[in-house]
Amino acid sequence: MTPRVVRARSLDDALDALDTLARAGGRTQVLAGGTDLMVEFATGRTRPESVLDIRSVVSLRAIERDDGGLRIGALATCTDLLRDPLVRSHADLLGFAAAEVGAVQIKNRATLGGNLGTASPAADLNPVLVALDATVVLRSRAARREVPAAAFLCGYRQTLLRDDELIECVRIPARPARERRAFRKVGTRRAQSISKLVVALAVTIEDGVVTRLRGAAGALAPRTILLTELAGALVGRRAGTGTLRDAVRISARSDIAPIDDLRSTAEYRREVFRRVTLTMLEELALQETP
Ligand SMILES: Cc1cc2nc3c(=O)[nH]c(=O)nc-3n(C[C@H](O)[C@H](O)[C@H](O)COP(=O)(O)OP(=O)(O)OC[C@H]3O[C@@H](n4cnc5c(N)ncnc54)[C@H](O)[C@@H]3O)c2cc1C
Repeated sequence: MTPRVVRARSLDDALDALDTLARAGGRTQVLAGGTDLMVEFATGRTRPESVLDIRSVVSLRAIERDDGGLRIGALATCTDLLRDPLVRSHADLLGFAAAEVGAVQIKNRATLGGNLGTASPAADLNPVLVALDATVVLRSRAARREVPAAAFLCGYRQTLLRDDELIECVRIPARPARERRAFRKVGTRRAQSISKLVVALAVTIEDGVVTRLRGAAGALAPRTILLTELAGALVGRRAGTGTLRDAVRISARSDIAPIDDLRSTAEYRREVFRRVTLTMLEELALQETP
């Protein structure tokens, strides 16, 4: 059955349409860049009764300052993220991750909201959102709620999004003073490949001691994960090589749960996670305080 397509011209328009379609029953899917959704239509992985096309809702593409941090509309594309000066100064990691997504054509269409909406464990932008402690703003006609990105991505291709809601924007808090950050994606090729693993780190080191660490990883578990064991093993400790190595070993054992699939083996992923994360931490420990 061909889905019914509804085009929204404004956010109110979109929320009204979602509300009506949710009450009528049947599945509705929001269409943003379509780089995941069109593939899912073609493979039959999804067969919604209705599609809500939000591409004309220009307000959803805005990138603005927000309480010392950033507010990024769900329709911001990867190209927007890697070019925007506010993203560069407040959330550079997001630009680095966006630069690694697909080819130019995909970057021009793929959106931040779509990366969240698909909730692929191998998504590249989502680990950055989790590492930067971002929250996802969800809107329905009746309400607005805000949930941490780490909680929003609740399972394999699963999110907390309700039928009558859409992702309006993402809020990234102000960068903590002296925070150092790093992003690394490992794929089959240097460019245009789906991640075998992806790691994003945000670390504060004061007088050689790790005082704060938020790390997140992709393609190493059924969903994007927060590296809580890594943080537990490092916060309050001196960032010396032995400590970093022990912490990464603990994280590789306890934080991640990689699988064998067509892109990689679990063993490869665990070993490369260990090496890549250790190198990232060693480089961050040597960096000048920003
Ligand atoms: C050739 C190719 C290469 C790719 N390479 C990469 C890569 O390197 N890294 C990577 O991370 N991804 C990659 N992708 C996947 C894809 O481009 C990204 O996941 C992208 O961010 C999806 O955004 P979109 O706007 O196209 O989403 P869409 O396809 O429009 O939507 C995806 C899902 O999110 C939902 N959705 C979208 N926007 C909203 C919203 N505002 N509110 C509620 N739900 C919403 C949709 O209903 C759908 O379920 C690739 C895809 C292709 C086809």
